Amino acid sequence: MKYLYDPPGLLKSMFSEFYWNTTNNKVLLTFDDGPNPETTEIILKRLEEENVKSLFFCVGENVKKYNSLAKQILANGHSIGNHSFNHKILNKISVDEKSFQIKETNKIVKENLGYNIKYFRPAHGRFQLSTASILKEHNLKGVMWSLLTYDYKNDLEVVKFAVKKYLRNNSIIVLHDSMKPKNIILDSINIIIDEVRNRNYQLGAADECLN
Ligand SMILES: [Zn+2]
Repeated sequence: MKYLYDPPGLLKSMFSEFYWNTTNNKVLLTFDDGPNPETTEIILKRLEEENVKSLFFCVGENVKKYNSLAKQILANGHSIGNHSFNHKILNKISVDEKSFQIKETNKIVKENLGYNIKYFRPAHGRFQLSTASILKEHNLKGVMWSLLTYDYKNDLEVVKFAVKKYLRNNSIIVLHDSMKPKNIILDSINIIIDEVRNRNYQLGAADECLN
């Protein structure tokens, strides 16, 4: 299998209204698919120790189920983004269903956490041109990435390779707040933080990185 750590330039230029990199020459760490009772707290503790603020792309259904974890994410100063209601691939569903996936998650987060979501990342990174207009309608900014770590392969060597080779001072990095990388999640965060510091890059919070 060919790993695509960094998406091709053509794709980025076709969907230029999405963020592929940060805009302030800082590195943004993002966590997809949570909250998750087995991993969210582990991640939050580590980020707090390092005073790193991150962006959690949460699944609406999980926010509903694990409301207190979602609250904890915000209480620790992180941002929450919309990662669809139940991780449906947007290309494969009707416009109405697509709209539901996005709207419902915003609504759950607003009602349960009193928080207005600003950012959206499509499940599996799959979207079409019509996604962009739905995002506009809901005042959401699409956030993709420039460094996919493949942490969900649960192989620390893969993460290490990806970070060493593809980290830039303006990278948007994807990790997962889910069961698949559970055993390597702490080491993955450590590898990123070490590499960022070794190169004198800086990590930033969502609102300063995406402007
Ligand atoms: Zn996902």
